[in-house]
Amino acid sequence: MKKILLSILFAMALAHPVMAKPLNVVASFSILGNMVHEVAGDSVILTTLVGPDGDAHDFEPSPIDAKKLAEADLVFLNGLNFESWFQRLAAASGTKAVFVNTSFGIQPRQMNEDGQDVLDPHAWQNLANGKIYVRNIRDALVKADPKNRATYEANAAGYLARIDALDSWVRTEINALPRDKRKVITTHDAFGYFGEAYGVTFLAPEGISTDAEPGARDLARLIDEIRAKKIRALFIENMTDPRMMQTISKETGAHLPEGEAAELYSDALSKPDGPAPTYLDMFRNNVPKLVKAMGQN
Ligand SMILES: [Zn+2]
Repeated sequence: MKKILLSILFAMALAHPVMAKPLNVVASFSILGNMVHEVAGDSVILTTLVGPDGDAHDFEPSPIDAKKLAEADLVFLNGLNFESWFQRLAAASGTKAVFVNTSFGIQPRQMNEDGQDVLDPHAWQNLANGKIYVRNIRDALVKADPKNRATYEANAAGYLARIDALDSWVRTEINALPRDKRKVITTHDAFGYFGEAYGVTFLAPEGISTDAEPGARDLARLIDEIRAKKIRALFIENMTDPRMMQTISKETGAHLPEGEAAELYSDALSKPDGPAPTYLDMFRNNVPKLVKAMGQN
């Protein structure tokens, strides 16, 4: 009898292999990948397209990325025109996955670059927006995989509470500095949402994407501004070429620290053994560096 029951169960398992299979999930870049991991835990198989220290602005997908998409059930994207390479990749892969725009519901920053209105994609740099991403991720996971609803909801609730606590900490740290000292130069316009949320002015030689070098006149204007406002807080980003900021440092006398101390994490996390392997670690790493450097303005 037991043997018959086992063989029936075995036959059922073969007939419904999908039931036992975890959701196959892709996140477009490392920061989003970490958010998905926090909410999904080990309930899904998660892969990320643009990895640690990778630049999602000028990412060049490989056939391996097309394969990841082809196998995916659910794909999490930042949206706000961040993943300009995605539509082509998705079409080439023939994926049947559901695409989730995780920035849905966020009030986007509009910027004007060279006479064109563009959306600022770096919404994750405000932790209040991070909570919107997390809720969108939770809701998409629950919809796609309702049997794990309780897990996703509990993980998201705990994560949202940690984000709230970190947001308060960031405010306390930044507010300890006088407002007129809160000015920073960094490689590209990745910190507009951070600046707006926490009261810091960021200037950058490159615009909201890293794909175009600034013209000589724009660079000269920025150097003049740095000199005039006596801004000392100068940073590079973990996924950008450091050379332009080294030039600006030489031209203005603003000190660029050596190695890691000069790096802000903007569009990508560090590798797991680095200083910013998670979304929240990114803030824990960036904020003390910013405060220290702005203190010298
Ligand atoms: Zn960027």
